[in-house]
Order: sequence, then C-alpha cells, then structure tokens
Amino acid sequence: MSSPAKSRALMVKHQLEQRGISDKRVLRAMRRVPREKFIPDHLRDLAYEDGPLPIEEGQTISQPYIVAFMAEAGELKPGDKVLEIGTGSGYAAAVMAEIAGRVITIERHAALAEKARQRLSDAGYANVDVRTGDGTLGLPGEAPFDAIIATAGGPRVPEAWKAQLAVGGRIVVPVGQSRSMQDLVRLTRIGDDEFRREPLGPVRFVPLIGEEGWDEGLHWYFGRDE
Ligand code: SAM
Repeated sequence: MSSPAKSRALMVKHQLEQRGISDKRVLRAMRRVPREKFIPDHLRDLAYEDGPLPIEEGQTISQPYIVAFMAEAGELKPGDKVLEIGTGSGYAAAVMAEIAGRVITIERHAALAEKARQRLSDAGYANVDVRTGDGTLGLPGEAPFDAIIATAGGPRVPEAWKAQLAVGGRIVVPVGQSRSMQDLVRLTRIGDDEFRREPLGPVRFVPLIGEEGWDEGLHWYFGRDE
C-alpha cells in the first residue's frame, strides 16, 4: 500500500461504514476530503489512522469517525448554512463544505485560523469562511444557521447559539461538567421557544474556551492559595 486515496477508501469502509455511519452524503464527503492535507507534514503517514492527531497550538484534528458522526448528527443538507465552532485544522469544515451550501467556521487561535484558511484554499474549498474569535458568542450578523457544530466541549449549550439557530435547525455540541469529558448532545429547534434535546453518547474533546464556555486560566488556579 498505499496511496492516500486508497487509505481513505479503507478508512471509510472500516472506520465509518462498519461502525454504522450510513448517511450517503457524509460517506461521499469523507471519501473526498484529503485528510493528509490538513495535518502537519511529519504526521502524513498517520492521516487515516483511527484517532485524533496533534496539530499546531497544542490542539487536535478529530478522529475521522467523530467528524463523520457529528456531520451525520447535524443532518446536513445541500444549501444549508453551517456554523462550526473550533476550526482547528479546517478538516471538519471541509467535510461539511462538501455537503452544505456554506460553512462559516470560528477559531480562537489566530495562527491556527490562518493555517486552516491556507489549507482549505489549497484543497479548493471556496465555500468556507474562516473567522477568528470567541465562537461561544456565535456570529449574530450571519444568523440564522441551519446547523451549529461545535468541536470543543463546554459546560452548557451557549444561549447565543440557540438564538442564532433557524427553526428546524440542529446544534451538535459536546457538553460536560469536566473540561475533558463530555456527552455529545443534539439540540433541535422545533419552535421559536422550543428545543428537543437528545444525548448521543460520551466523547472527549478539548475545552471550549470563552465567554459562554470554560475560563481560559481556570486550570492554573486549582490548588493555589490566593
Ligand atoms: N474541527 C477541527 C478539525 O477538524 O481539525 C478540530 C478542532 S479541535 C478538536 C477544537 C478547536 O476548538 C481548537 O482548535 C480550539 O482552539 C478551538 N476552540 C476552543 N474554544 C473555542 C472558542 N470559544 N471559539 C473558537 N474556537 C475555539
């Protein structure tokens, strides 16, 4: 073996289809996006391994299965306007851009956002817009969104996202009382003031840091006598 295309096809078969991912649009997207172009050069041989990988700024690119699972949970459709919180490498944004009409993705680390912008442009994704900032506040000027997908875990679902979701829209977000372990939750807006909440299973994401997320410095203060 093996060309990246061949490894990608095997990844889709063994890691996704055999584990129950069945949305045709998601499987097609996962077959098309070159994950090897979204990770640091020295890790390229590991691009289709069954796990997350480290990227710049101490962050991670998610496991292929979780990217597919979240896209499927978001029930993405052609023409949808999607907000992603936590651009990271830009890989999940590319997968969602294969399905939706437009993806706007926010990253709090400016250097990571710039790198993702470059990677997405090199891979030919013109329908993704990368912004820098605190994604816990959403993007009121671009609302409403058909789907809001968060790839970092917070203590609760930010009120700003609920307000910026179209009726019928879906939020998929890891929520948990610890910074490193969460339950994946889907919130569907079924009316102006009505949301349906469904638990989708335990996950481990990096923390969602921001005004409606975790405090950036919190872990430094534990155990300090101030
Ligand atoms: N979707 C990414 C990918 O495909 O590579 C994986 C993202 S990584 C697991 C989570 C990202 O969320 C990190 O890059 C982190 O800096 C970012 N993040 C955490 N809190 C954030 C916030 N409030 N606003 C925007 N980005 C945030």
